[in-house]
Amino acid sequence: MSTPVKYPRLSAAEQRALLHQIVARCRPEKGGPTPVVVFDLDGTLMDNRPRTSEILHEFAATLGPADHDAQARLAGATPSSLAYLLTDSLARLGVTRTDVVGRAEAFWKERFFADEHLRLDVEVAGGVAFARACHEAGAILIYMTGRDLPLMGIGTFRSLRDLGFPIGVPGTELVLKPDAAMPDEAYKRLEGPKLARVGKIVAVFDNEPANCNTLLEMNPDSVSVLLDTQHLPGAPPLHPDVKVIADFVMA
Ligand SMILES: [Mg+2]
Repeated sequence: MSTPVKYPRLSAAEQRALLHQIVARCRPEKGGPTPVVVFDLDGTLMDNRPRTSEILHEFAATLGPADHDAQARLAGATPSSLAYLLTDSLARLGVTRTDVVGRAEAFWKERFFADEHLRLDVEVAGGVAFARACHEAGAILIYMTGRDLPLMGIGTFRSLRDLGFPIGVPGTELVLKPDAAMPDEAYKRLEGPKLARVGKIVAVFDNEPANCNTLLEMNPDSVSVLLDTQHLPGAPPLHPDVKVIADFVMA
């Protein structure tokens, strides 16, 4: 992705070595607890920018001749032209008229945080193969996402299935936020300790530095990995033990 690198990434060779090492830790030891790998979805296993891009195209199609300029700019949105925050994306596209921005935000919000458009998400490179490798080695996969169960649960399950991630089979769990209004970081801090009931957490993956730090604190024996894709502006410094990778390519 095009976000500037702010955290030192492992080299491609180090990334490959780390991912292989984690797969090796997914093999259960005889008589020991089942290894567990925790994955965030948006910005970690999945790139949701195609979702926003398509929603902006749909919004453009609703605009009339008075908004011709904004319509043309929005219709030209591509996943790689988008920032983390919608307001920044609109500014990048040159859409600045307050009334259009307000309408675009409302239109986007209603669709971005809902089941239907989740079908547009794509995997972060290598994500499916890596998740499958962990699962096949013997780990339980927990997809722990800041998406909420009431509005996004069904679409998330369908998207995981359609992209080829292990889901709906033994050794997989999908954990969602009970309420859309809860901030993601607070949710992971609150629910994170409950993950240990599933087994021994060997690795956690997230694209938010704050979540990587929190999950590492809760599971000091795990490997905490930041996907350096996109994250909230103003993210905290990363704990020095968190590893930083670009994607899941391990070949
Ligand atoms: Mg995320």
